[in-house]
Amino acid sequence: MNKKNNKESIGCAVAGKCGGCQLQNMNYERQKAFKQAKVVKLFGKYCRVAPIEGMENPYNYRNKVSAAFGTTRSGMIISGVYQSSTHNIVKIDSCMLEDKTADAIIVTIRNLLKDFKLTAYNEHTCKGFLRHVLIRRGFATGEVMVVMVTSTPVFPGKNHFIEKLLNIHPEITTVVQNINNKFTSMVLGDSQKVLYGKGYIEDILCSKRFRISPKSFYQINPVQTEKLYNCAINLAALTGKERVIDAYCGIGTIGIAASDNAKEVIGAELNKDAVHDAIINAKLNNVKNIRFICNDAGEFMQALAADGEKADVVFTDPPRAGCSKQFLDSLLILSPEKIVYISCDIETQARDVYYLTKKGYKVKACRPFDMFPHTRHIETVVLLSQRRPDIHIDIKLDLSELDITAAETKATYQEIKDYVFEKHGLKVSTLYISQVKAKCGIIERECYNKGEGKSRVPQCPKEKEDAIMDALRHFMMI
Ligand code: SAH
Repeated sequence: MNKKNNKESIGCAVAGKCGGCQLQNMNYERQKAFKQAKVVKLFGKYCRVAPIEGMENPYNYRNKVSAAFGTTRSGMIISGVYQSSTHNIVKIDSCMLEDKTADAIIVTIRNLLKDFKLTAYNEHTCKGFLRHVLIRRGFATGEVMVVMVTSTPVFPGKNHFIEKLLNIHPEITTVVQNINNKFTSMVLGDSQKVLYGKGYIEDILCSKRFRISPKSFYQINPVQTEKLYNCAINLAALTGKERVIDAYCGIGTIGIAASDNAKEVIGAELNKDAVHDAIINAKLNNVKNIRFICNDAGEFMQALAADGEKADVVFTDPPRAGCSKQFLDSLLILSPEKIVYISCDIETQARDVYYLTKKGYKVKACRPFDMFPHTRHIETVVLLSQRRPDIHIDIKLDLSELDITAAETKATYQEIKDYVFEKHGLKVSTLYISQVKAKCGIIERECYNKGEGKSRVPQCPKEKEDAIMDALRHFMMI
């Protein structure tokens, strides 16, 4: 590391080609300062931005690793990542961000392909067998899932292949074959079959157990995720009485983690595999006060708002595009006391937060988390709450000392005059009304019950006094 320039040589041979570690030239302290400054630029105008929560060991944190497979001109099978903005594969055997076990399994699979005379897929000819390998490892459980994405359902020598793989990597707990025969840049296809084990892994976060299946979203940095969720849940300051919404809930992690301190939780998520996992996860943790809706989060919120429903706290954790306008407008109708907005894209988050601050919310806290060290990505939690006056002054009011009494506010002089005229056919002056009010203990303004100078003040005749009294009774002022 070159301390003078705050630079760090990360020793990665493919750093330039891969493009994944955009901040590779900065040492970790500088990376954090760089990210902090970006967040302060966007959110510092609302509140003090808490210092970014960094990692003690910012390496090998990715528990999800995906490798593309291909063949070089000389016929060698390679695996790695696509060079940025291209479909050329950069060969990678190990990456400083990725889980080491996952990297080792990918290299083993690459070597086994040759032994089993299996080929890598060619995107140009649409021929070949293996397109991608996706590995997920449960940080707390150590369970490992291998997803082999193939172009055809036919897997020659499948059983023998799996046997060999498990021999070399006994830590693998499940193997899934996913079939993707489309011309697409999406990694996973629609259909899949379990070749070994249960077809999913489990992990533990915030003392809760979560099932994660191949197509469900799960945060890629478990160490930081736990800190992130704890912060989000603490900011919500739940008391056990709240109705909570977990929007964009994935496999239900935030909602389930928050459920112990809420009355009721509703999770909304578009991906049906994730919702399936979420429902099982609630059962796995014996959480009974949560339910999940498989729907677009905006549609879900709009339907709730249309039904006149309310929410006390809304957690929202959208993908990079941020929340839809439909979502935000419905959120405003639901008008929760608190919104905890978690995001992996500070630009769209800032856009949405600005919108909410224009419509009655105030930013109360902002805390960045370094979920993706060495990359430019930043995760941020922002707490918004309904705008209330900042200063409260307690004033003791003694009504008898005021010239405008609670009673006086009930009917104006004109209304009393009109009533008396309509009901009794009498015209009464403001002075007379004032005198009668004074008789009834309703304190009057000085100018109404005193004459000016030494001139005699006319006194209200008995008939008019009775009519005014009737009006005061009518308006429930006496
Ligand atoms: N809160 C979860 C997931 C966050 S990632 C966690 O922390 O693990 C964002 C989630 O939003 C993903 O699960 C994705 O499938 C889901 N999603 C994307 N677009 C959506 C939409 N329009 N409506 C609801 N969910 C959506």
